[in-house]
Amino acid sequence: MEQDGTIRSDPRYAWREGGGFAPPKRSATERVSDFLEIYSFLDERTAREQALRCIQCPEPTCVEGCPVNNRIPEWMGLVADGRFAEAAQVLQASTCMEEVFSRLCAHPCEARCVLEGRADPVAINAIERFLHDYGFSHGAVDVTIPPLNGLSVAVMNAGPCGLTCAYDLARLGYAVTVYDARSAPGGLLAQGIPRFRMEQGLLERRLALLERLGVRFQLQARPGVAPTLRELRTQFDAVFFGAALGQVRPLEIPGAELRGVHQGLTFIVQRNVQAPIEAPPIEVCARRVVVVGGGDVAMDCLRTALRSGAKDVLCVYRRSQAEMPANPFEYENAREEGARFEFLAAPVAVLGDASGNVTGLRCVRTRLGEPEADGRPRALPLPGSEFVLPADVILVALGFTAAGFQAEGDLDQLALTPQKLIQTDDNSMTNLPGVFAGGALTRGASAFLDAVTDARKAARAIDAHLAPRRAASLAPIGPQPHA
Ligand SMILES: Cc1cc2nc3c(=O)[nH]c(=O)nc-3n(C[C@H](O)[C@H](O)[C@H](O)COP(=O)(O)OP(=O)(O)OC[C@H]3O[C@@H](n4cnc5c(N)ncnc54)[C@H](O)[C@@H]3O)c2cc1C
Ligand code: SF4
Repeated sequence: MEQDGTIRSDPRYAWREGGGFAPPKRSATERVSDFLEIYSFLDERTAREQALRCIQCPEPTCVEGCPVNNRIPEWMGLVADGRFAEAAQVLQASTCMEEVFSRLCAHPCEARCVLEGRADPVAINAIERFLHDYGFSHGAVDVTIPPLNGLSVAVMNAGPCGLTCAYDLARLGYAVTVYDARSAPGGLLAQGIPRFRMEQGLLERRLALLERLGVRFQLQARPGVAPTLRELRTQFDAVFFGAALGQVRPLEIPGAELRGVHQGLTFIVQRNVQAPIEAPPIEVCARRVVVVGGGDVAMDCLRTALRSGAKDVLCVYRRSQAEMPANPFEYENAREEGARFEFLAAPVAVLGDASGNVTGLRCVRTRLGEPEADGRPRALPLPGSEFVLPADVILVALGFTAAGFQAEGDLDQLALTPQKLIQTDDNSMTNLPGVFAGGALTRGASAFLDAVTDARKAARAIDAHLAPRRAASLAPIGPQPHA
Protein backbone atom coordinates (compact mmCIF):
# COMPACT_ATOMS: atom_id res chain seq x y z
CA MET A 1 0.00 0.00 0.00
CA GLU A 2 1.36 3.42 -0.97
CA GLN A 3 1.35 6.59 1.17
CA ASP A 4 -1.50 8.07 -0.87
CA GLY A 5 -3.73 5.09 -0.11
CA THR A 6 -3.38 3.39 -3.50
CA ILE A 7 -2.64 -0.29 -3.44
CA ARG A 8 0.64 -1.39 -4.98
CA SER A 9 -0.41 -3.83 -7.63
CA ASP A 10 2.79 -5.63 -8.53
CA PRO A 11 1.62 -9.23 -8.24
CA ARG A 12 5.19 -10.54 -8.27
CA TYR A 13 5.74 -9.60 -4.66
CA ALA A 14 2.38 -8.91 -3.07
CA TRP A 15 1.94 -12.51 -1.87
CA ARG A 16 5.01 -12.26 0.37
CA GLU A 17 3.70 -9.24 2.22
CA GLY A 18 1.37 -9.25 5.17
CA GLY A 19 3.36 -11.94 6.99
CA GLY A 20 2.18 -12.81 10.50
CA PHE A 21 -1.39 -11.75 9.73
CA ALA A 22 -3.95 -12.65 12.37
CA PRO A 23 -7.60 -11.58 12.22
CA PRO A 24 -8.15 -8.65 14.59
CA LYS A 25 -9.62 -9.73 17.93
CA ARG A 26 -10.17 -8.15 21.33
CA SER A 27 -7.75 -8.85 24.17
CA ALA A 28 -8.49 -11.97 26.22
CA THR A 29 -8.92 -9.90 29.39
CA GLU A 30 -11.51 -7.69 27.77
CA ARG A 31 -13.48 -10.45 26.09
CA VAL A 32 -13.97 -12.70 29.14
CA SER A 33 -15.85 -9.84 30.76
CA ASP A 34 -18.70 -10.00 28.24
CA PHE A 35 -20.47 -12.27 25.73
CA LEU A 36 -19.80 -10.11 22.67
CA GLU A 37 -18.08 -11.47 19.55
CA ILE A 38 -14.32 -11.54 19.94
CA TYR A 39 -13.26 -10.82 16.34
CA SER A 40 -13.58 -7.41 14.79
CA PHE A 41 -13.89 -6.79 11.06
CA LEU A 42 -11.01 -6.03 8.76
CA ASP A 43 -10.88 -2.43 7.64
CA GLU A 44 -11.13 -1.81 3.90
CA ARG A 45 -7.45 -1.13 3.55
CA THR A 46 -6.37 -4.38 5.25
CA ALA A 47 -8.96 -6.35 3.29
CA ARG A 48 -7.50 -5.01 0.03
CA GLU A 49 -3.93 -5.68 1.15
CA GLN A 50 -4.79 -9.24 2.01
CA ALA A 51 -6.80 -9.82 -1.17
CA LEU A 52 -3.91 -8.50 -3.24
CA ARG A 53 -1.77 -11.32 -1.86
CA CYS A 54 -3.98 -13.83 -3.71
CA ILE A 55 -2.01 -14.88 -6.79
CA GLN A 56 -5.14 -16.00 -8.67
CA CYS A 57 -4.04 -19.60 -9.25
CA PRO A 58 -5.48 -21.01 -12.49
CA GLU A 59 -6.59 -24.14 -10.57
CA PRO A 60 -7.37 -22.74 -7.13
CA THR A 61 -6.77 -25.35 -4.45
CA CYS A 62 -8.54 -23.13 -1.89
CA VAL A 63 -11.79 -23.71 -3.78
CA GLU A 64 -11.18 -27.47 -3.74
CA GLY A 65 -10.59 -27.24 0.01
CA CYS A 66 -13.80 -25.29 0.66
CA PRO A 67 -16.71 -27.62 1.42
CA VAL A 68 -19.11 -25.34 -0.45
CA ASN A 69 -16.68 -24.56 -3.29
CA ASN A 70 -16.85 -20.85 -2.63
CA ARG A 71 -15.71 -18.83 -5.68
CA ILE A 72 -12.81 -17.46 -3.63
CA PRO A 73 -10.47 -16.08 -6.36
CA GLU A 74 -13.38 -14.26 -8.00
CA TRP A 75 -14.34 -12.28 -4.89
CA MET A 76 -10.70 -11.94 -3.89
CA GLY A 77 -9.94 -10.19 -7.21
CA LEU A 78 -12.84 -7.78 -6.71
CA VAL A 79 -11.78 -7.01 -3.13
CA ALA A 80 -8.21 -6.33 -4.31
CA ASP A 81 -9.68 -3.73 -6.69
CA GLY A 82 -11.75 -2.19 -3.89
CA ARG A 83 -15.03 -3.36 -5.54
CA PHE A 84 -16.45 -4.60 -2.26
CA ALA A 85 -20.15 -4.48 -3.12
CA GLU A 86 -19.64 -6.60 -6.24
CA ALA A 87 -17.44 -9.00 -4.28
CA ALA A 88 -20.14 -9.35 -1.61
CA GLN A 89 -22.69 -10.16 -4.29
CA VAL A 90 -20.47 -12.85 -5.86
CA LEU A 91 -20.02 -14.38 -2.40
CA GLN A 92 -23.77 -14.38 -1.71
CA ALA A 93 -24.52 -15.83 -5.14
CA SER A 94 -22.21 -18.78 -4.66
CA THR A 95 -22.71 -19.69 -1.04
CA CYS A 96 -25.35 -19.64 1.65
CA MET A 97 -25.18 -18.47 5.26
CA GLU A 98 -21.70 -17.04 4.77
CA GLU A 99 -22.06 -15.28 8.14
CA VAL A 100 -22.24 -18.70 9.81
CA PHE A 101 -19.58 -20.34 7.63
CA SER A 102 -17.13 -17.56 8.34
CA ARG A 103 -17.61 -18.17 12.08
CA LEU A 104 -18.05 -21.94 12.47
CA CYS A 105 -16.01 -23.30 9.55
CA ALA A 106 -12.44 -24.36 10.42
CA HIS A 107 -11.40 -22.69 7.13
CA PRO A 108 -9.74 -25.59 5.34
CA CYS A 109 -9.50 -23.21 2.33
CA GLU A 110 -6.56 -21.46 4.02
CA ALA A 111 -4.76 -24.75 4.68
CA ARG A 112 -5.03 -25.46 0.93
CA CYS A 113 -3.89 -21.97 -0.17
CA VAL A 114 -0.72 -22.42 -2.28
CA LEU A 115 1.04 -19.76 -0.22
CA GLU A 116 0.77 -21.94 2.91
CA GLY A 117 4.30 -23.04 3.80
CA ARG A 118 5.96 -20.22 1.80
CA ALA A 119 4.23 -17.29 3.46
CA ASP A 120 1.06 -16.88 5.50
CA PRO A 121 -2.00 -18.04 3.55
CA VAL A 122 -4.34 -15.34 2.28
CA ALA A 123 -6.79 -14.36 5.06
CA ILE A 124 -9.77 -15.88 3.21
CA ASN A 125 -11.92 -16.41 6.29
CA ALA A 126 -11.48 -12.86 7.60
CA ILE A 127 -12.31 -11.43 4.16
CA GLU A 128 -15.44 -13.60 3.98
CA ARG A 129 -16.61 -12.12 7.31
CA PHE A 130 -15.75 -8.63 6.10
CA LEU A 131 -17.71 -9.12 2.86
CA HIS A 132 -20.81 -10.46 4.56
CA ASP A 133 -20.91 -7.46 6.86
CA TYR A 134 -20.09 -5.04 4.03
CA GLY A 135 -22.88 -6.48 1.90
CA PHE A 136 -25.50 -5.98 4.58
CA SER A 137 -24.32 -2.61 5.83
CA HIS A 138 -24.01 -1.15 2.30
CA GLY A 139 -27.24 -2.54 0.86
CA ALA A 140 -25.32 -4.90 -1.43
CA VAL A 141 -27.58 -7.86 -0.73
CA ASP A 142 -29.65 -9.32 -3.51
CA VAL A 143 -33.20 -9.41 -2.23
CA THR A 144 -34.76 -9.67 -5.65
CA ILE A 145 -37.88 -11.71 -5.14
CA PRO A 146 -37.79 -14.36 -7.85
CA PRO A 147 -40.97 -14.94 -9.86
CA LEU A 148 -42.88 -17.86 -8.34
CA ASN A 149 -42.64 -20.99 -10.47
CA GLY A 150 -46.02 -22.30 -9.30
CA LEU A 151 -44.62 -25.13 -7.16
CA SER A 152 -44.28 -25.44 -3.41
CA VAL A 153 -41.99 -27.30 -1.00
CA ALA A 154 -42.36 -28.09 2.72
CA VAL A 155 -39.13 -28.12 4.73
CA MET A 156 -39.01 -29.87 8.11
CA ASN A 157 -36.44 -28.13 10.34
CA ALA A 158 -35.65 -24.47 10.89
CA GLY A 159 -32.01 -25.20 11.83
CA PRO A 160 -29.16 -24.48 9.41
CA CYS A 161 -30.02 -27.58 7.38
CA GLY A 162 -33.62 -26.57 6.73
CA LEU A 163 -32.89 -22.85 6.38
CA THR A 164 -30.28 -23.55 3.70
CA CYS A 165 -32.61 -25.78 1.71
CA ALA A 166 -35.38 -23.18 2.04
CA TYR A 167 -33.08 -20.37 0.88
CA ASP A 168 -31.84 -22.24 -2.20
CA LEU A 169 -35.37 -23.26 -3.22
CA ALA A 170 -36.88 -19.82 -2.60
CA ARG A 171 -34.19 -18.32 -4.84
CA LEU A 172 -35.39 -20.69 -7.57
CA GLY A 173 -38.97 -19.46 -7.29
CA TYR A 174 -40.51 -22.18 -5.09
CA ALA A 175 -43.04 -21.24 -2.43
CA VAL A 176 -41.39 -22.66 0.69
CA THR A 177 -42.90 -23.32 4.11
CA VAL A 178 -40.54 -24.28 6.93
CA TYR A 179 -41.96 -26.34 9.82
CA ASP A 180 -40.20 -26.68 13.17
CA ALA A 181 -41.06 -28.29 16.47
CA ARG A 182 -39.76 -25.34 18.50
CA SER A 183 -41.35 -21.94 19.01
CA ALA A 184 -38.42 -20.07 17.41
CA PRO A 185 -36.43 -20.84 14.26
CA GLY A 186 -32.64 -21.26 14.08
CA GLY A 187 -32.00 -24.67 15.67
CA LEU A 188 -28.62 -24.79 17.37
CA LEU A 189 -27.70 -21.40 15.87
CA ALA A 190 -30.34 -19.88 18.14
CA GLN A 191 -29.71 -22.01 21.19
CA GLY A 192 -26.34 -23.74 21.07
CA ILE A 193 -23.76 -21.42 19.54
CA PRO A 194 -22.57 -18.91 22.17
CA ARG A 195 -22.99 -15.23 21.35
CA PHE A 196 -19.25 -14.58 21.59
CA ARG A 197 -18.86 -16.81 18.52
CA MET A 198 -21.89 -15.63 16.60
CA GLU A 199 -23.99 -12.70 17.67
CA GLN A 200 -27.74 -13.23 17.68
CA GLY A 201 -28.40 -10.36 15.27
CA LEU A 202 -26.84 -12.37 12.43
CA LEU A 203 -29.45 -15.12 12.69
CA GLU A 204 -32.23 -12.54 12.83
CA ARG A 205 -30.82 -10.91 9.71
CA ARG A 206 -30.79 -14.24 7.88
CA LEU A 207 -34.36 -15.04 8.95
CA ALA A 208 -35.53 -11.61 7.80
CA LEU A 209 -33.88 -12.22 4.41
CA LEU A 210 -35.66 -15.56 4.08
CA GLU A 211 -38.98 -13.92 4.89
CA ARG A 212 -38.35 -11.26 2.27
CA LEU A 213 -37.76 -14.06 -0.21
CA GLY A 214 -41.23 -15.34 0.66
CA VAL A 215 -40.31 -18.22 2.99
CA ARG A 216 -43.07 -18.88 5.57
CA PHE A 217 -42.54 -20.41 9.00
CA GLN A 218 -44.90 -22.79 10.81
CA LEU A 219 -43.53 -23.23 14.31
CA GLN A 220 -44.51 -25.63 17.11
CA ALA A 221 -45.38 -28.18 14.46
CA ARG A 222 -45.27 -31.95 14.87
CA PRO A 223 -44.59 -33.37 11.44
CA GLY A 224 -46.22 -36.76 11.10
CA VAL A 225 -49.03 -35.71 13.47
CA ALA A 226 -49.83 -32.07 12.76
CA PRO A 227 -49.36 -31.88 9.86
CA THR A 228 -49.29 -35.52 8.80
CA LEU A 229 -46.98 -36.63 6.02
CA ARG A 230 -50.05 -37.44 3.95
CA GLU A 231 -51.25 -33.84 4.28
CA LEU A 232 -47.82 -32.48 3.43
CA ARG A 233 -47.58 -34.62 0.30
CA THR A 234 -51.03 -33.49 -0.80
CA GLN A 235 -50.44 -29.78 -0.17
CA PHE A 236 -46.85 -29.52 -1.43
CA ASP A 237 -45.04 -30.67 -4.55
CA ALA A 238 -42.06 -31.93 -2.53
CA VAL A 239 -41.08 -32.38 1.12
CA PHE A 240 -37.60 -32.13 2.66
CA PHE A 241 -36.74 -33.59 6.06
CA GLY A 242 -33.67 -32.04 7.66
CA ALA A 243 -34.48 -32.19 11.38
CA ALA A 244 -31.63 -33.05 13.66
CA LEU A 245 -31.45 -36.15 15.75
CA GLY A 246 -29.08 -37.44 18.35
CA GLN A 247 -28.79 -37.21 22.08
CA VAL A 248 -25.93 -35.93 24.14
CA ARG A 249 -23.62 -38.76 25.18
CA PRO A 250 -23.74 -39.32 28.96
CA LEU A 251 -20.75 -39.67 31.29
CA GLU A 252 -20.90 -43.34 32.22
CA ILE A 253 -18.60 -43.63 35.23
CA PRO A 254 -19.29 -44.12 38.96
CA GLY A 255 -20.51 -40.91 40.62
CA ALA A 256 -21.92 -39.39 37.41
CA GLU A 257 -25.25 -38.94 39.23
CA LEU A 258 -23.74 -36.61 41.88
CA ARG A 259 -24.97 -33.02 42.28
CA GLY A 260 -22.75 -30.80 40.12
CA VAL A 261 -22.45 -33.07 37.05
CA HIS A 262 -24.28 -31.53 34.08
CA GLN A 263 -24.48 -31.80 30.34
CA GLY A 264 -22.35 -29.03 28.81
CA LEU A 265 -24.96 -28.30 26.14
CA THR A 266 -27.59 -27.59 28.81
CA PHE A 267 -25.19 -25.12 30.44
CA ILE A 268 -24.56 -23.34 27.11
CA VAL A 269 -28.25 -23.21 26.19
CA GLN A 270 -29.10 -21.73 29.61
CA ARG A 271 -26.63 -18.90 28.96
CA ASN A 272 -27.84 -18.36 25.37
CA VAL A 273 -31.59 -18.45 25.74
CA GLN A 274 -33.50 -16.09 27.96
CA ALA A 275 -36.55 -18.34 28.16
CA PRO A 276 -36.35 -20.88 31.01
CA ILE A 277 -35.53 -24.42 29.97
CA GLU A 278 -36.51 -27.60 31.73
CA ALA A 279 -33.44 -27.94 33.96
CA PRO A 280 -32.32 -26.31 37.21
CA PRO A 281 -29.91 -23.39 36.60
CA ILE A 282 -26.25 -24.44 36.49
CA GLU A 283 -24.21 -22.08 38.66
CA VAL A 284 -20.45 -21.89 38.07
CA CYS A 285 -19.57 -18.48 39.57
CA ALA A 286 -16.54 -18.77 41.93
CA ARG A 287 -16.49 -22.55 41.36
CA ARG A 288 -13.90 -24.93 39.98
CA VAL A 289 -15.18 -26.26 36.65
CA VAL A 290 -13.88 -29.35 34.87
CA VAL A 291 -15.05 -29.90 31.29
CA VAL A 292 -14.77 -33.43 29.90
CA GLY A 293 -14.29 -33.65 26.12
CA GLY A 294 -12.30 -32.02 23.32
CA GLY A 295 -14.80 -30.89 20.68
CA ASP A 296 -16.48 -27.60 19.82
CA VAL A 297 -19.04 -27.99 22.61
CA ALA A 298 -16.21 -28.51 25.14
CA MET A 299 -14.43 -25.33 23.97
CA ASP A 300 -17.70 -23.39 24.20
CA CYS A 301 -18.31 -24.74 27.73
CA LEU A 302 -14.84 -23.62 28.86
CA ARG A 303 -15.25 -20.16 27.43
CA THR A 304 -18.82 -19.75 28.69
CA ALA A 305 -17.73 -20.83 32.20
CA LEU A 306 -14.89 -18.27 32.15
CA ARG A 307 -17.36 -15.54 31.19
CA SER A 308 -19.72 -16.70 33.94
CA GLY A 309 -17.16 -16.06 36.68
CA ALA A 310 -15.79 -19.57 37.30
CA LYS A 311 -12.76 -19.63 39.61
CA ASP A 312 -10.83 -22.23 37.65
CA VAL A 313 -11.65 -23.85 34.29
CA LEU A 314 -9.95 -27.05 33.19
CA CYS A 315 -10.49 -29.30 30.17
CA VAL A 316 -9.79 -33.04 30.43
CA TYR A 317 -9.21 -34.78 27.10
CA ARG A 318 -8.18 -38.40 26.66
CA ARG A 319 -5.99 -37.90 23.59
CA SER A 320 -3.37 -35.23 22.81
CA GLN A 321 -4.01 -31.76 21.49
CA ALA A 322 -3.29 -32.88 17.91
CA GLU A 323 -6.29 -35.25 17.95
CA MET A 324 -8.76 -32.78 19.47
CA PRO A 325 -11.81 -32.48 17.18
CA ALA A 326 -12.38 -28.81 18.14
CA ASN A 327 -11.46 -26.09 15.68
CA PRO A 328 -7.77 -25.31 16.45
CA PHE A 329 -8.40 -21.56 16.58
CA GLU A 330 -11.17 -22.04 19.16
CA TYR A 331 -8.73 -24.07 21.27
CA GLU A 332 -6.28 -21.13 21.04
CA ASN A 333 -9.03 -18.70 21.99
CA ALA A 334 -9.98 -20.81 25.02
CA ARG A 335 -6.34 -21.04 26.12
CA GLU A 336 -5.82 -17.29 25.72
CA GLU A 337 -8.91 -16.64 27.83
CA GLY A 338 -7.53 -18.72 30.71
CA ALA A 339 -8.75 -22.28 30.21
CA ARG A 340 -6.28 -24.94 31.27
CA PHE A 341 -5.90 -28.31 29.54
CA GLU A 342 -5.10 -31.76 30.85
CA PHE A 343 -4.35 -33.88 27.79
CA LEU A 344 -3.90 -37.67 27.74
CA ALA A 345 -6.18 -38.10 30.76
CA ALA A 346 -9.51 -39.94 30.99
CA PRO A 347 -12.11 -39.71 33.79
CA VAL A 348 -12.72 -42.89 35.81
CA ALA A 349 -14.96 -41.69 38.70
CA VAL A 350 -16.68 -38.57 39.99
CA LEU A 351 -15.94 -37.98 43.68
CA GLY A 352 -18.41 -36.40 46.10
CA ASP A 353 -18.96 -35.49 49.74
CA ALA A 354 -21.47 -36.89 52.21
CA SER A 355 -24.19 -34.49 50.93
CA GLY A 356 -23.86 -35.79 47.38
CA ASN A 357 -22.02 -32.74 45.99
CA VAL A 358 -19.16 -33.12 43.54
CA THR A 359 -15.69 -32.60 45.03
CA GLY A 360 -13.45 -33.90 42.26
CA LEU A 361 -12.82 -36.09 39.24
CA ARG A 362 -10.58 -39.12 39.43
CA CYS A 363 -8.68 -39.58 36.16
CA VAL A 364 -6.18 -41.98 34.69
CA ARG A 365 -3.28 -41.06 32.42
CA THR A 366 -3.51 -42.46 28.89
CA ARG A 367 -1.18 -43.27 26.01
CA LEU A 368 -2.04 -43.36 22.32
CA GLY A 369 -2.41 -46.78 20.69
CA GLU A 370 -3.53 -48.19 17.34
CA PRO A 371 -5.99 -46.15 15.23
CA GLU A 372 -9.72 -46.67 15.81
CA ALA A 373 -12.36 -46.83 13.07
CA ASP A 374 -12.34 -43.03 12.65
CA GLY A 375 -8.54 -43.01 12.15
CA ARG A 376 -7.74 -41.42 15.52
CA PRO A 377 -5.48 -43.38 17.89
CA ARG A 378 -7.12 -45.29 20.72
CA ALA A 379 -6.52 -43.76 24.18
CA LEU A 380 -5.21 -46.56 26.41
CA PRO A 381 -5.19 -46.18 30.22
CA LEU A 382 -1.82 -46.41 31.95
CA PRO A 383 -2.16 -48.73 34.98
CA GLY A 384 -1.36 -47.16 38.35
CA SER A 385 -1.46 -43.60 37.00
CA GLU A 386 -4.67 -42.38 38.68
CA PHE A 387 -4.87 -38.85 40.03
CA VAL A 388 -7.62 -36.53 41.32
CA LEU A 389 -8.63 -33.14 39.94
CA PRO A 390 -10.55 -31.01 42.45
CA ALA A 391 -13.89 -29.80 41.04
CA ASP A 392 -17.23 -28.30 42.09
CA VAL A 393 -18.90 -28.57 38.68
CA ILE A 394 -18.32 -31.11 35.91
CA LEU A 395 -19.59 -30.30 32.44
CA VAL A 396 -19.91 -33.26 30.10
CA ALA A 397 -19.16 -32.59 26.42
CA LEU A 398 -18.69 -36.05 24.96
CA GLY A 399 -20.52 -35.45 21.69
CA PHE A 400 -23.79 -36.83 20.42
CA THR A 401 -25.05 -40.35 19.91
CA ALA A 402 -27.17 -41.04 16.86
CA ALA A 403 -30.35 -41.95 18.69
CA GLY A 404 -31.98 -42.93 15.42
CA PHE A 405 -35.01 -41.45 13.73
CA GLN A 406 -38.10 -41.51 15.96
CA ALA A 407 -40.98 -41.76 13.52
CA GLU A 408 -43.98 -39.87 14.84
CA GLY A 409 -47.45 -40.47 13.41
CA ASP A 410 -47.43 -41.45 9.75
CA LEU A 411 -43.69 -40.76 9.34
CA ASP A 412 -43.35 -44.52 9.86
CA GLN A 413 -43.83 -44.82 6.10
CA LEU A 414 -40.23 -43.65 5.65
CA ALA A 415 -37.81 -46.55 5.14
CA LEU A 416 -34.87 -46.61 7.56
CA THR A 417 -31.33 -47.97 7.35
CA PRO A 418 -30.09 -50.61 9.85
CA GLN A 419 -28.65 -47.65 11.85
CA LYS A 420 -32.21 -46.22 12.08
CA LEU A 421 -31.39 -43.28 9.80
CA ILE A 422 -33.69 -42.24 6.96
CA GLN A 423 -32.77 -44.17 3.82
CA THR A 424 -32.14 -42.05 0.73
CA ASP A 425 -30.88 -42.69 -2.79
CA ASP A 426 -28.01 -40.81 -4.49
CA ASN A 427 -30.42 -37.94 -5.15
CA SER A 428 -31.38 -37.52 -1.49
CA MET A 429 -34.84 -39.01 -2.19
CA THR A 430 -36.42 -41.34 0.37
CA ASN A 431 -38.49 -44.42 -0.50
CA LEU A 432 -41.45 -42.05 -1.02
CA PRO A 433 -41.39 -40.18 -4.35
CA GLY A 434 -41.06 -36.43 -3.82
CA VAL A 435 -39.94 -36.81 -0.20
CA PHE A 436 -36.28 -35.94 0.40
CA ALA A 437 -34.02 -36.00 3.46
CA GLY A 438 -30.52 -34.92 4.49
CA GLY A 439 -28.30 -33.80 7.34
CA ALA A 440 -28.28 -35.64 10.64
CA LEU A 441 -31.38 -37.66 9.72
CA THR A 442 -29.43 -39.46 7.00
CA ARG A 443 -25.86 -39.38 8.28
CA GLY A 444 -26.11 -39.18 12.10
CA ALA A 445 -25.06 -36.26 14.30
CA SER A 446 -23.15 -33.91 12.04
CA ALA A 447 -21.26 -30.64 11.88
CA PHE A 448 -22.74 -27.46 10.44
CA LEU A 449 -20.84 -28.00 7.18
CA ASP A 450 -22.34 -31.44 6.61
CA ALA A 451 -25.85 -30.23 7.39
CA VAL A 452 -25.55 -27.35 4.91
CA THR A 453 -23.85 -29.40 2.20
CA ASP A 454 -26.62 -32.02 2.38
CA ALA A 455 -29.28 -29.31 2.30
CA ARG A 456 -27.83 -27.77 -0.85
CA LYS A 457 -27.56 -31.16 -2.53
CA ALA A 458 -31.19 -31.91 -1.65
CA ALA A 459 -32.36 -28.51 -2.96
CA ARG A 460 -30.70 -29.25 -6.31
CA ALA A 461 -32.23 -32.74 -6.35
CA ILE A 462 -35.72 -31.38 -5.55
CA ASP A 463 -35.37 -28.83 -8.35
CA ALA A 464 -34.30 -31.56 -10.80
CA HIS A 465 -37.13 -33.84 -9.66
CA LEU A 466 -39.73 -31.12 -10.15
CA ALA A 467 -38.30 -29.86 -13.47
CA PRO A 468 -40.99 -31.47 -15.66
CA ARG A 469 -43.80 -30.09 -13.48
CA ARG A 470 -42.08 -26.72 -13.25
CA ALA A 471 -42.07 -26.44 -17.03
CA ALA A 472 -45.75 -27.43 -17.10
CA SER A 473 -46.70 -24.94 -14.39
CA LEU A 474 -44.97 -22.15 -16.30
CA ALA A 475 -46.63 -23.05 -19.60
CA PRO A 476 -48.90 -20.32 -20.92
CA ILE A 477 -52.46 -20.57 -19.66
CA GLY A 478 -55.25 -20.84 -22.19
CA PRO A 479 -55.60 -22.54 -25.55
CA GLN A 480 -52.27 -23.73 -26.93
CA PRO A 481 -51.40 -22.99 -30.54
CA HIS A 482 -51.47 -26.15 -32.71
CA ALA A 483 -53.10 -28.02 -29.84
C1 LIG B 1 -22.14 -25.68 21.41
C2 LIG B 1 -22.04 -26.09 19.96
C3 LIG B 1 -20.97 -25.64 19.19
C4 LIG B 1 -20.88 -26.03 17.86
N1 LIG B 1 -19.83 -25.56 17.12
C5 LIG B 1 -19.71 -25.94 15.82
C6 LIG B 1 -18.61 -25.49 15.03
O1 LIG B 1 -17.73 -24.76 15.49
N2 LIG B 1 -18.55 -25.88 13.74
C7 LIG B 1 -19.52 -26.70 13.18
O2 LIG B 1 -19.43 -27.03 11.99
N3 LIG B 1 -20.57 -27.15 13.90
C8 LIG B 1 -20.68 -26.78 15.20
N4 LIG B 1 -21.74 -27.23 15.95
C9 LIG B 1 -22.72 -28.10 15.29
C10 LIG B 1 -23.79 -27.28 14.54
O3 LIG B 1 -24.44 -26.38 15.39
C11 LIG B 1 -24.78 -28.26 13.95
O4 LIG B 1 -24.06 -29.12 13.08
C12 LIG B 1 -25.87 -27.60 13.13
O5 LIG B 1 -26.63 -26.75 13.94
C13 LIG B 1 -26.75 -28.70 12.52
O6 LIG B 1 -27.83 -28.10 11.87
P1 LIG B 1 -29.21 -28.84 11.75
O7 LIG B 1 -30.13 -27.93 11.03
O8 LIG B 1 -28.99 -30.20 11.14
O9 LIG B 1 -29.69 -29.12 13.23
P2 LIG B 1 -30.07 -28.13 14.43
O10 LIG B 1 -29.30 -26.88 14.43
O11 LIG B 1 -30.02 -29.00 15.65
O12 LIG B 1 -31.59 -27.77 14.15
C14 LIG B 1 -32.59 -28.77 14.15
C15 LIG B 1 -33.95 -28.13 14.15
O13 LIG B 1 -34.89 -29.16 13.88
C16 LIG B 1 -35.97 -29.02 14.78
N5 LIG B 1 -36.58 -30.33 14.97
C17 LIG B 1 -36.06 -31.39 15.63
N6 LIG B 1 -36.92 -32.42 15.56
C18 LIG B 1 -37.99 -32.00 14.84
C19 LIG B 1 -39.18 -32.60 14.41
N7 LIG B 1 -39.50 -33.86 14.70
N8 LIG B 1 -40.02 -31.87 13.68
C20 LIG B 1 -39.73 -30.59 13.35
N9 LIG B 1 -38.61 -29.97 13.73
C21 LIG B 1 -37.75 -30.67 14.45
C22 LIG B 1 -35.38 -28.45 16.04
O14 LIG B 1 -36.38 -27.77 16.76
C23 LIG B 1 -34.32 -27.50 15.48
O15 LIG B 1 -34.82 -26.20 15.26
C24 LIG B 1 -21.87 -26.88 17.28
C25 LIG B 1 -22.93 -27.32 18.06
C26 LIG B 1 -23.02 -26.94 19.39
C27 LIG B 1 -24.15 -27.46 20.21
S1 SF4 C 1 -13.92 -20.31 5.61
FE1 SF4 C 1 -14.87 -22.29 5.10
S2 SF4 C 1 -16.71 -21.73 3.89
FE2 SF4 C 1 -15.39 -19.90 3.96
S3 SF4 C 1 -14.19 -20.01 2.06
FE3 SF4 C 1 -12.99 -21.02 3.71
S4 SF4 C 1 -13.50 -23.22 3.59
FE4 SF4 C 1 -15.07 -22.07 2.41
